[in-house]
Amino acid sequence: MSTSPHHTADAASTGGSPASDATAGPDARVIDQLVQANRHYADGFQDPGMDARPVLKVAVVACMDARLDLHAALGLELGDCHTIRNAGGVVTDDVIRSLTISQRALGTRSVILIHHTNCGLESLTEDFRHELEDEVGQRPAWAVEAFRDVDQDVRQSMQRVRTSPFLLHKDDVRGFVFDVTKGVLREIDPAQ
Ligand SMILES: [Zn+2]
Repeated sequence: MSTSPHHTADAASTGGSPASDATAGPDARVIDQLVQANRHYADGFQDPGMDARPVLKVAVVACMDARLDLHAALGLELGDCHTIRNAGGVVTDDVIRSLTISQRALGTRSVILIHHTNCGLESLTEDFRHELEDEVGQRPAWAVEAFRDVDQDVRQSMQRVRTSPFLLHKDDVRGFVFDVTKGVLREIDPAQ
């Protein structure tokens, strides 16, 4: 914490915020920061007058990675798409749940899958589950979905969407790898 430019040796006594708490480090204040930002957002907010159906009828399934700004990277505006994110952008049963609702209740027809370079899941293995079990005495029901080959992982995700019995629209499903250093998408051929 002492490396932060905002926290000099005597900064703790100069905060002045009514929410200051001597026992809380900067990380514990992050949600306060977010709530404060929301007040500014709400001040300038105008009801967009939209219903819940995405304008572009597309669902984006992507990794939760902090470097991936989906709306900016894909030219998306508020109301355009459904955004479904998790660690890896993996098509789990819960992603199929969201996609099923997206298509059957809210009218989307296309699915774009976005994984990326330098993903945190590349450094994990399924041993992560066993280590968890050793630590807490219970093995998680979910798979870690770690991978070594990001292209193959995108193909597997496309295949899971295309073979789901619950989805109505499986003819426009495309998968990509986002380069986190260049900002560009590379499409993955599902047939390779
Ligand atoms: Zn990732």
